[in-house]
Amino acid sequence: MPHGLHFTCLLAAGLLAAGVLPAQATSHKWSIVVHGGAGVIERESMPAATEAEYRAAMKTAVETGAAVLEKGGTSLDAVQATIQYLEDNPLFNAGKGAVFTADGRNELDSAIMDGATLNAGSVAQLTRTRHPIAAARAVMEKSPAVMLAGPDADTFAASKGLEQVDNSYFFTERRWQGLIKQLQKEGKPIPPRPAGAPPAPAKPLAMLEPADAHKWGTVGVVALDEAGNIAAGTSTGGLQAKLPGRIGDSPIIGAGTYASNHSCAVSGTGTGEYFIRLTIAREICALVEDKHMKLQAAADEVIHKQLEGIHGDGGIIAIAPDGEAAWSFNTPGMYRARMSQGSQPTIAIYSDEP
Ligand code: ASP
Repeated sequence: MPHGLHFTCLLAAGLLAAGVLPAQATSHKWSIVVHGGAGVIERESMPAATEAEYRAAMKTAVETGAAVLEKGGTSLDAVQATIQYLEDNPLFNAGKGAVFTADGRNELDSAIMDGATLNAGSVAQLTRTRHPIAAARAVMEKSPAVMLAGPDADTFAASKGLEQVDNSYFFTERRWQGLIKQLQKEGKPIPPRPAGAPPAPAKPLAMLEPADAHKWGTVGVVALDEAGNIAAGTSTGGLQAKLPGRIGDSPIIGAGTYASNHSCAVSGTGTGEYFIRLTIAREICALVEDKHMKLQAAADEVIHKQLEGIHGDGGIIAIAPDGEAAWSFNTPGMYRARMSQGSQPTIAIYSDEP
């Protein structure tokens, strides 16, 4: 150990023993950005009560992560805590409230990435783990793998003590009716109501919004902590009526999720196939790192030129280690929120909001 480092360690150990925490070498202003999915979300077709519910949930989400960062917590912890809140909230297409596959099951994908180390973990096709983001984190920290899929991924999560639930835990009437409407429209067979789901309501549920209003609804978080480290995470049920076995961009490192302290952290939402083809998240960070573009300009370039260039739809949130935060999307709306140390949260839904 170099002499100087040895001395620093001794000093730190001495201070800790005395109950004094050494001051941060450098203290960054923390910052966090959250999305709750992009899509055809329009003011005219959004009931006021539904809009209020989404705004309140996005506020709680961003404040959940902010509370972690305000206490000096890591960006990884802030990302995980925020996403777990969103996974538990049935409004969003992640965890409870996820959309269904064409054969009537919930299959969940998630990823997390640490910008400081480039360590990453991801899971695909989970059917039993309550918090897919926690499973992704466990893959990152407790396995030599980056990605696990299928029943073995659930078994791994269970072996690390993560809560397991019946697949019907993720069921919501709203998503089920959304699936049936979409399959009817496409002339496809309707699967049986899942075992363990509550009995069908006597009269159809008053829909929160048109059934196909949110084809997406994935959740994602990017954060910068006081130590200057950035992280990204994403969690989703994927696309409504997806082919069983289909894996989207969210758990693909570089496509729907990416983080590097050398450039930026990104989480995406949209039709995953386009995000995979363009490796959207990594592409934005590459423009920042290699072309020295500002984050917002890089995000707009990739979403409005590259993604639109192949007729893809969706959006991203991003953050850079210098604290610059950005969002960019080419859909009528994206549920989103941001907050920085010392400021109030900003919540937005429609494209005409700042
Ligand atoms: N990107 C997700 C997927 O394709 C869907 C979403 O954003 O809601 O799986």
